[in-house]
Amino acid sequence: MFSRLYNEAVIEFDMHTESPLFIKSGLDDQLNPAAVEHTFFVTYKNGEPVPAIPGSSLKGVFRSTAEQLLKEHGVCNILSKVDSCSYRIRQEERNQEERNKSENQDNYGQMSLGEIRYKKSCPVCKLFGSQVLKSRITFNDACPVGEYKTGKRAAVAIDRITGASRSGALYDFEYIENAVFKCRIQLRNFFRWQVKLIFEIFNRIDDGYTTFGGFSSKGFGRMRIENVSMTVRYYDKGKKAEGYSDKELYIEKNITGREAISELLKDIKFDEAAFKGCDLKHDKAL
Ligand SMILES: [Zn+2]
Repeated sequence: MFSRLYNEAVIEFDMHTESPLFIKSGLDDQLNPAAVEHTFFVTYKNGEPVPAIPGSSLKGVFRSTAEQLLKEHGVCNILSKVDSCSYRIRQEERNQEERNKSENQDNYGQMSLGEIRYKKSCPVCKLFGSQVLKSRITFNDACPVGEYKTGKRAAVAIDRITGASRSGALYDFEYIENAVFKCRIQLRNFFRWQVKLIFEIFNRIDDGYTTFGGFSSKGFGRMRIENVSMTVRYYDKGKKAEGYSDKELYIEKNITGREAISELLKDIKFDEAAFKGCDLKHDKAL
């Protein structure tokens, strides 16, 4: 399924910090070993350090929100050894191998391994991937544009061994506020319901149900999504859809604004019929 590119979508948006944001630097190579726990994640632009939200943490937040939104539809537990799609699929593949040895047949005809694994995965793994399935979505690291403020606050130190607060021990942690982060999500070989899922996650972020980084119980990490635009390409030029321009190798459409994009997504439902689809040729163009 991944040997061929059917479509691509790039969703660009700004994330405005509605409250202070603390994104832990996961780096171990910082000069001060005591600073590891409470320094903001930093990337480098023209050699200068810039606070950033790593693509991997954006993906983690979007994934866990998708799990909440689709929990009625049989979502696996990616962190669990036995309740995850990857464990179940590997198990099924081993059993199938055994059967093939004795019966010399399989039930999936011409489907590739990727297609079979996609078909067997839960809706969340179908988009975000698993140990046995390639992800269809990638998140860039998000850097702030324009002015922003940084600050330091004191928090109570927690003893790593006992989990109790070390009596009176305080440490400073760095946060960023009044910032606008430029974000970019890329989808490849996507189904329409997967695009709709991203926009449902945007609503959860705006409503404050989904937060980013640490100290959310103290009100940190609330965000607002702004300035959304989406560019969609189909490499199958036979797709009949409105508003696309012909670019020789593909047809392309750019849609600006959340209202206009929501209009395109409104007939899409999150149901078994949508999740079951695994042949992109049968998915309508956006
Ligand atoms: Zn899964």
